[in-house]
Amino acid sequence: MSKNESKQVHPETAVLTSGFDPRLSVGSARPAVFRSSTYVFSSPEAAERAFDVATGRKPAIAGEHVDLIYARINHPNAQILEEQILALETGATAAAVFNSGMAAIMTALMAYLRPGDAIVHTSPLYGGTEHLVEEYLKEWGIRAVEVRAGDQDGLDRAIRETPGVKVVFIETPANPTLVMTDLRAAAESAASISPKPVVMVDNTFLGPAFQHPFVQGADLVLYSATKYLGGFSDIIGGVALAKDPAVLAPLRALRVLFGNIMQPDECWILDSRLPTVTLRMNRQSKSAQRIAEALDGHPAIARVLYPALFEDAEQSRIFHSQCDFPGAMFTIELKGGKQAAFDFLRALKIARNAVSLGGVETLACHPLTTTHSGFSAEESAFAGITDGMVRVSIGIEDWRDLLADFEEALKAVQVPPGPAS
Ligand SMILES: *Cc1c(COP(=O)(O)O)cnc(C)c1O
Repeated sequence: MSKNESKQVHPETAVLTSGFDPRLSVGSARPAVFRSSTYVFSSPEAAERAFDVATGRKPAIAGEHVDLIYARINHPNAQILEEQILALETGATAAAVFNSGMAAIMTALMAYLRPGDAIVHTSPLYGGTEHLVEEYLKEWGIRAVEVRAGDQDGLDRAIRETPGVKVVFIETPANPTLVMTDLRAAAESAASISPKPVVMVDNTFLGPAFQHPFVQGADLVLYSATKYLGGFSDIIGGVALAKDPAVLAPLRALRVLFGNIMQPDECWILDSRLPTVTLRMNRQSKSAQRIAEALDGHPAIARVLYPALFEDAEQSRIFHSQCDFPGAMFTIELKGGKQAAFDFLRALKIARNAVSLGGVETLACHPLTTTHSGFSAEESAFAGITDGMVRVSIGIEDWRDLLADFEEALKAVQVPPGPAS
């Protein structure tokens, strides 16, 4: 089925009908795995042509099938996955798969930043991204300007006033505070300066089912496919998608040099998970909303951070205008601080104490001592991460069992004496 035909049906249908032609896999209804490291050319002329196109010396002609060369450059399973994943991301026309989310993020940043340039980003970011931007890239002469998530005026000002800004990098909702950033406003700020910086959105928490950054004006959408796309906590992967294939081209070129394309077996596994992403995320989000709402107001809990429970009017406005559903991540802040958080985690019987998210099993962790332990005290305070916070990723178990597990575990938590509220 051509791309145009597939665009006329809904994403859940298109993901099953586009991007894979059974005739190219001896009629197999699902893709085969092609583990070859190298590919036999149809002729020496075809080999010459393949190298001209792969190196960018000559442009590919629309509809042309250039011979494959070597699996670090490209391979059939990456091509199939990249075609099929387009169906899930509204507005995407090109995708590139990487062997981790960090590989996708690192390659995107290296593609658009040079010594002397600047990157404006929201804070907090995923710990690995934060470290990459604030420490590693700094050593390469790239200036990072961080803006607290939710500070829309600050973000607008940083984009307009930072000299040499080439990348605007946004994570929304922020991890683990769930604070949201208005993508449309950020894209408009970026569009108002020249040269226009590339607007990159890490859409791991709510995409591809519930948040569609291309609709709001983003240039590049990045994923840790390890999370909801993979869905079973058994694969590490990353994806970069673009509205304009030219924006993705430099990432593809670097991927050849860095050698960080996703391997054929991993592509095949991830491919088999795509048709159920929306199904899983819908169930996970519904369960998370029920549980978050039930826990809100519990005497041991100071706050439940969750989009459907936003009290701030501006945050609520962004959520309703930008997202279809609140998602399956929430953070509870325990009144008893770190001790209470640890006691709670220790007492959980169904939810497991592990980092990561997006899998079919429920996971919980203490961000300050795990995922965000690289943050200095100042950085944590700036980002609003406190020692009583426990981040939860809801899976597909029955929500009533999970709620009972959380309520039972909360009994193990000491509530500090304080003013009656
Ligand atoms: C996990 C994660 C990453 C990193 O992805 P890996 O697949 O672990 O490399 C980046 N961003 C967010 C928001 C994540 O949750």
